Amino acid sequence: MKEIYVLRLGHRPARDKRVTTHVVLVARAFGAKGVYIEGNDENIIKTTLKVLNTWGGYSYFTIQTVNNGKEIVKKWKRDGGTVVHLTMYGINIADIENELEKIRYPLLIIVGSEKVEGWYYYNADYNVAISNQPHSEVAALAIFLDRIYKGRELYMEFGDARIKIIPQKVGKKVIKSG
Ligand code: SAM
Repeated sequence: MKEIYVLRLGHRPARDKRVTTHVVLVARAFGAKGVYIEGNDENIIKTTLKVLNTWGGYSYFTIQTVNNGKEIVKKWKRDGGTVVHLTMYGINIADIENELEKIRYPLLIIVGSEKVEGWYYYNADYNVAISNQPHSEVAALAIFLDRIYKGRELYMEFGDARIKIIPQKVGKKVIKSG
């Protein structure tokens, strides 16, 4: 797994609870190592810890809230990592894939909620579009991670999972431990 983290900007607990939770779930399932959430929300931390405890990732996936996303971006750049901001105004992923293969890790992927401040457009190393059409941070993050891992993340397993799915063409089967 690569050193990849996600910064979710402008989380509003009442409005964004579900979408931010989905950002976190996609980050975990598709191979990121952690998420920074700009805004305060203890419930999202609790929900995530429950998922990690049941489905795995507790030992390495990190989630934390931060007051100001800009501080994370500044730190990332100071430490020599790469910052990608996902936005429909960026360069289409299909036109930048070769360049992204050469980036320095750790990688910080920024996704917005409502309007993203101009500062992020100018301080990201890359503004990347998952098509130049408006859609969703959840979809954008999933497709971006899938392109980075070239589909390998779809086979990821978590060693500390308490529930393991035994894939079935028809029906539903799980093994539970602990
Ligand atoms: N209107 C907002 C703006 O101008 O920044 C975007 C709102 S959108 C619901 C929330 C987030 O989804 C964006 O900040 C971006 O991270 C992501 N997003 C939406 N469409 C995208 C696209 N085509 N490519 C990449 N990211 C996208």
